[in-house]
Amino acid sequence: MPRFPTNFVDDLKAHADILQVIHDVVPLKKSGSTYKGLCPFHKEKTPSFHVNPDKGFFHCFGCATGGDVVKFVELYDKLSFPEAVRALAQRFGMTVPESDDPEQDRRITIEREALVKLHEIAKDYYCEQLESKNGTHAREYLDRRELAAPTIKELDLGFAPPQRDALKQHLLDAGQPLELLLKSGLVVQREGGKSVDRFRNRLMVPICRDTGSVIAFGGRSLTSDQQPKYLNSPETPLYSKGRVLYGLHLTKKDIRRLGYAVLVEGYFDFAQAFQAGVKTVVATCGTALTQMQSRLLKRSCTKVLLSFDPDTAGQGASTRSGELLLSEGFQTNVVTLASGEDPDSFVRLHGANSYRLKLKNSQPYLEYVLDQAIRGRNLSRETDQRDFLADMLAVAARIPDPASRDRFADRLAHRANVMEDVIRSEIRKAAIAKRTEIPIEVQVARSELRQAEKGILWATIHNTSAALSVLSGLEPADFETLAAGPILLVARTLVDVPPENVSGTLLDRLTPEEQALVKQIAQDPVEPASVEDCAINLRELRYKRERAALQDAIDHAQRADPSESNLGKINTLLEKKRDLTKQLDELLR
Ligand SMILES: [Zn+2]
Repeated sequence: MPRFPTNFVDDLKAHADILQVIHDVVPLKKSGSTYKGLCPFHKEKTPSFHVNPDKGFFHCFGCATGGDVVKFVELYDKLSFPEAVRALAQRFGMTVPESDDPEQDRRITIEREALVKLHEIAKDYYCEQLESKNGTHAREYLDRRELAAPTIKELDLGFAPPQRDALKQHLLDAGQPLELLLKSGLVVQREGGKSVDRFRNRLMVPICRDTGSVIAFGGRSLTSDQQPKYLNSPETPLYSKGRVLYGLHLTKKDIRRLGYAVLVEGYFDFAQAFQAGVKTVVATCGTALTQMQSRLLKRSCTKVLLSFDPDTAGQGASTRSGELLLSEGFQTNVVTLASGEDPDSFVRLHGANSYRLKLKNSQPYLEYVLDQAIRGRNLSRETDQRDFLADMLAVAARIPDPASRDRFADRLAHRANVMEDVIRSEIRKAAIAKRTEIPIEVQVARSELRQAEKGILWATIHNTSAALSVLSGLEPADFETLAAGPILLVARTLVDVPPENVSGTLLDRLTPEEQALVKQIAQDPVEPASVEDCAINLRELRYKRERAALQDAIDHAQRADPSESNLGKINTLLEKKRDLTKQLDELLR
C-alpha cells in the first residue's frame, strides 16, 4: 500500500475544512462551539453526531463512530485511506507527493522522532547554560529587556555558550550520532571537514510545534557587533518556517477560549505581550503571515488583531497579512502604535494596561486600509477620487463574504462621497469577475423589471430548490442590464446555502430598496411564470443583446474602409453572429 509523507497528511488535515466536507453531505446546526446533525453512520431521529471544526474531528455519541476529516471521507465515501487522502487533496487543491517506497517513509518518520528528541536535549542544555556562570551576560541582557524569571522559564529561553563546539560535544556525549546533529542544523560542517555549533554566544529561543515539542531555535545576538542579529535554524525535515507560529503551544488554549489571537512579529514582542497578560498572542517571527500559518489559527479562532511594527516594513507586513486573513474569512483588526514603537517597547514604556487598551481600541482592518489609502490624497479632486476608488475596489473584490463586502461598500461610499448603490454594484461585479481594476464610470442603463426576473425571484422565496438549480445554470452575463440583475447575482451566489436558509440570507445581503422589491414580488400568491421558462427567457434576452451588439459592430466595420484586414474582421463578426443565431434557435426549439 502506498504511503504519504507524514507532514503531507498533517498539512492536508489542516487545509481540508472538516466542517465544509461534512456539511456538504450531512445537514448540521451550530450548537455551542460544535455542530450537530443526524448521524450518517447509524439510523437515528435525534441528532447525536457532532463535528468540532476547531479540533478537526467528528464524533457520534450514538454509535461511537469518530475521527478526523480523512476518516470521515474513508467511512462516508467508502474509500481506503490513500483514496480518501487523494480525494481530499484534489478537492482542496493540494498536490499529493507520491512515494512508492514505504521503507523510506518509515525511515523518515523514525528520523523525525529522533530529531525531536535531539532538540529536547539541546533545549535543556541551553537552559542550563543560561542558569550557569557562562550565562551571566545573557541573564543581564534579559534583565535589560525586562523579562522576569517566570516568563524566561515559561518560554524555555536559553543560552548558547561561545565555545566552537560545546553543544556538539554535549550531544555526542548524550549518545546522539553526528549525522543527526548535522541534519538538525544545530551543528554545521565547515569547509575542511570540521563541524561546529551553529549558535554561539547567543540567547536561544526554542520554536515549538503547537503540541509543544521543540523543532527549531532562534538565536539573538548579545553584542552589537555580532551579525546577524537573529539567526534561525535552517529548514529541516522537522521545521519549515512558514508552517509554525511562535508561541502557539502556550496560547492555543486561550485563543480558542476567547476566540481571537493577537498577532505580533518578533520573539520579544511575543514575550512582552505574554508577560503583560495578553495570553492570546502569537508571533510570525519577522515575516508576513503565510497561508499555512493562517490555517493553523483558523482551527482556534475567527478573529485576529494585527499588532505589527508601525514602520514601513511593518505596514507592508500588516497589509499582506491583513489581506490574507481577509481572504481566509477572519475578522481582522489592526492595532496602531506610534511610529518607532513595537509591542515590545510599547509595553515596557507604557505598561501592560496601555497595551491592552490599544488592543481594545484596535481598528477594523478595512477601516485601516481606507485611512491608509486616503492619506496623501485629496478626494475632492477627481483624479485622486478615481485612484482611491480603484484601489479600494481591488481590496473589496477580495472580501469573500458578500455581506461584509456590502458593509465595506457603504463605508467606502461614505468616505468618497459616492452613491452607495453605485459602489455596491461595482464591487459585486468586481468580486464576480475577480478583476482587480474596475472602470467606475461604467454605468449600465437598466431596463424595466421583466416577468422572467419576477419569476425567478418569486421562486427563490417560495420554490427555493428549483430556483437554485436554475440560478446555478445561469451566468453573470445573463443578468446584464436587467433591472433586478444585482439581486439575481446575489441570489446566484447562494446555490450552496441550504434551501431553508436562502431567503433569509438573500434579504440580509440586499439594500433596503432591493429587499422591498423582493418582498413585494414574493407577496404574489401565484407563481408569475415557471422558473425554468424564466431561465430560458433570460438566456434568450442575452443572446439577443449579444447579437444586437455584434450587428452594431458589423455595421460599424462596414462603414469603415474596405481594407483587407477589415474584411477579415467583418467575416469573423458575421460568423459569430451566425453561431449565436444557431444557439438561439436551439434554445427556443
Ligand atoms: Zn452514529
